Amino acid sequence: MKWKEKRDLRPRAQQKQAVQGDGTIRRTLSFYKYVHFTDPEAVRRELFTAWGALGCLGRIYVAHEGINAQMSVPKASWAEFERFMKSRVEYQDIPFKLAVEEGSAPAFYKLSIRHKAKIVADGLDDTSFDVTNTGTYLTAAQMNEYIDDPEAIVIDMRNNYESEIGYFKGAITPDVKTFRDELRLVPKKLRVHKNKKIALYCTGGIRCEKASAWLKHSGFTNVRHLKGGIIDYKHQVEASGLANYFKGRNFVFDERMSERIGTEIVSTCHLCRKVKCDTYHDCRAQVCHRLFIGCDTCVKKRHGFCSYRCQTLDRLPSSVKKRFTRLLSTCRRIKGELRKVPLY
Ligand SMILES: [Zn+2]
Ligand SMILES: [Zn+2]
Repeated sequence: MKWKEKRDLRPRAQQKQAVQGDGTIRRTLSFYKYVHFTDPEAVRRELFTAWGALGCLGRIYVAHEGINAQMSVPKASWAEFERFMKSRVEYQDIPFKLAVEEGSAPAFYKLSIRHKAKIVADGLDDTSFDVTNTGTYLTAAQMNEYIDDPEAIVIDMRNNYESEIGYFKGAITPDVKTFRDELRLVPKKLRVHKNKKIALYCTGGIRCEKASAWLKHSGFTNVRHLKGGIIDYKHQVEASGLANYFKGRNFVFDERMSERIGTEIVSTCHLCRKVKCDTYHDCRAQVCHRLFIGCDTCVKKRHGFCSYRCQTLDRLPSSVKKRFTRLLSTCRRIKGELRKVPLY
């Protein structure tokens, strides 16, 4: 019999309203594992059924190479969720990274589990290098030693919009929009540091697994990476009373957008370019949806739009807006297709 998935096809606003009003207390977590799945589609279906029944929400990617999950689990279903994870040999040893802050709004509004070619879009041809030759892990205490060491180089493996609101003291934060671009740029731009002690970090550690192997393949001799990323660093720092060397907020890929890790505000409002601010907003314009950092005054003044242009575009007749949206989505699709071409 053909398996039929019960998809939530309600408009986003309705999903949002339903989750916000259901009174459920949820725990947000993330985890990943590089493990070979012979049939990722079967894994996806099993997880959708099991986690859907528990009322889990989130964004999960499954591929032949493993699983990458960001999700919220109802507190009442937590024990059942853990039992499920422990009952499967593929998942039982995965460390969970619990969210640092839950936020006032839910992190997710629906359960989306997708079968992808890769669990992280890195643009690499995995057969061209040894993906298992990763760097060894750094604990939070070791990360602090690297930051204090003038001979060591700390590299932020995230995108520019992520490092704009938060980064480790003294880290190199490449100005790139995608992880794919980062992997292309770092080995070239930072080749002078090839023989230095290198520490990599990202949000939850997944990007560094691939990046450390890629840098080693590219001739970097001493590459290590922060275990569990910034999220776990914060937990370790709090548990063991270490100095917190992370400044600002950690960007996260859910409705919360970021979590506070360090007390400093390291970014400035994109609209007035004056007020220190680190809150991301999603531009209200249908054609835009650009993420921008905005102070309360500017966001109110611009009515939630990222620019005067978007504010003006929104006033156009709906037929013109529709055409414009279609044109833009075609451009984005072409850009997406181009990204699929392997780099090397
Ligand atoms: Zn402002
Ligand atoms: Zn906009």
